[in-house]
Amino acid sequence: RPPILAIDGPAGAGKSTVTRLCAQQLGLKYLDTGAMYRAITWLVLQSQIKLDDQLAIADLVSQSDIKLQLDANPDHPPRVWVQQQDVTDTIRSPEVTQSVSAIAAQSAVRQALVRQQRILGQSGGLAAEGRDIGTQVFPAAGLKIFLTASSLERARRRHKDLEQQGAAPISLEQLEQQIAQRDQKDSQRSLSPLCKAYDAIEIDTDGLSIAVVTDQIVQHYRN
Ligand code: C5P
Repeated sequence: RPPILAIDGPAGAGKSTVTRLCAQQLGLKYLDTGAMYRAITWLVLQSQIKLDDQLAIADLVSQSDIKLQLDANPDHPPRVWVQQQDVTDTIRSPEVTQSVSAIAAQSAVRQALVRQQRILGQSGGLAAEGRDIGTQVFPAAGLKIFLTASSLERARRRHKDLEQQGAAPISLEQLEQQIAQRDQKDSQRSLSPLCKAYDAIEIDTDGLSIAVVTDQIVQHYRN
């Protein structure tokens, strides 16, 4: 069974693209755990439950049915379904992005999603990306990577993504501020905050191409 590859890091560090490419090159399945937190957030917004109504959200999570495409495709994010509805695009909306950290901080949400993630990883052969993969979800992963980049560089990358998606224009400064706010919430929450596992290899991707970063990780994994 091929070992698990765990890739963590803050928003916009390049995790998605790099993890998908690594999965493809190494013949692993791809698990985007952020998409699962986004899917629950979409469901909460859809149900018009308040973001801080932890009991109602716990109830909703227990009845939720999230499905993810696990085949790595370097050109597209994975398809995601909630209650049989395709939410692949809507979970990337600004509304979901702005609310997801508040939902991801709740214990019922994390417990349910981490349980599902571990089931998906039972047979190994998985490249998983998120915030707590190396520290919490798969602490025994074969290789742990922590991807970082400066906040300006991360904002630039997200800006380019949004432009390509034809999304409503937002200034680079505003985007940098939003990313910084989300990182702060993700790093300061009490449950499984975003942090580097002690045994993770940190890669600062500023000035490095996607191909170079992918190649470094693939080499580490094979060694
Ligand atoms: O990676 P992505 O930006 O799609 O993640 C969306 C949000 O989901 C993060 O900002 C974080 O709040 C939450 N998340 C998390 N733990 C993970 C993956 C994502 O808390 N493993």
